[in-house]
Amino acid sequence: MHYDAENSIQQEGVMALVRHVALVSESNNAQMSDLLRVSAALQKQASRDLAPIWEISATVDAFAKLEDVPDGYWPMIIKDNIGYNAAGIHMDKDGQPFALISSASTVDEWSLTASHEMCEMLVDPSGDRQMTSDSPKAEQGRVSFLVEVCDPSEAADFAYSANGILVSDFYTPNYFDPVTASGVRYSYTSAITAPRQVLRGGYLSWKDSVSGHWWQETWFDGGEPAFRDIGAADAKAGSIRAFVDRLTGTRTAQAIARGRVSAHGAGLTVAQAQRSLGATAAMWREQISEILGRPDRRRTTKQAAKKRPRGRKR
Ligand SMILES: [Zn+2]
Repeated sequence: MHYDAENSIQQEGVMALVRHVALVSESNNAQMSDLLRVSAALQKQASRDLAPIWEISATVDAFAKLEDVPDGYWPMIIKDNIGYNAAGIHMDKDGQPFALISSASTVDEWSLTASHEMCEMLVDPSGDRQMTSDSPKAEQGRVSFLVEVCDPSEAADFAYSANGILVSDFYTPNYFDPVTASGVRYSYTSAITAPRQVLRGGYLSWKDSVSGHWWQETWFDGGEPAFRDIGAADAKAGSIRAFVDRLTGTRTAQAIARGRVSAHGAGLTVAQAQRSLGATAAMWREQISEILGRPDRRRTTKQAAKKRPRGRKR
């Protein structure tokens, strides 16, 4: 597959083809209540933010177990104790993508990872979509960039929130424009302000066709980004994305672990959002009681449960 930044973006197949993403937890760190809230946030990000910019269309739903996921869905599975080589997007035997997400102690951390993988899976299902533009290394001329929309601004610092859930920034097709222009959006949050810019904690990968080597601009340490030659793609790794992710997985995890405290554009925290949701739910309950002509039992049991000492379940 080959795309040119100066031509309009080509899409595989029909424009309005709907992709279905399934979120499943196999970790005690991600309970069903959180899983449902994250899937609603990812659905909102996919249809409100990602869809108009990348011309994709997707549904996102949570399922209690992998066995419940319908055929044709792309699963994203949250798991404990998976290494950096295993985390990320893989292809199944039918050539369809699925993602393994490392669980984390905070929802912010795994929701940000899940959002990163979801956006990249939807924009580049096969893991080898490329777009041509000028290399950040001047002497290389035109090169072929791997289209992984979250990598350059992957750090939690540039994340934003949907329904109070932390989700990843992603670049737009203008990221591969030849020149910087005013009023052009290079990433969803506008944290990226110029084409092919790499922000702290992020990276960008491309292939130099003369040497056949893949190169990266990374900003993992120090005060500015650095270049590195990562060699020819390893066919055994699967997709180009899998080859690249093996080299950067640890760094991505570190950049994401900085968390909400450093996320300038995040807005409401889950706890803050939850406060107003609680008030709305109470309003609904009151009105339902009025309609039914009797007090809401559920509310009274919930309030009673709150008074019960912690750690004791009956
Ligand atoms: Zn990525």
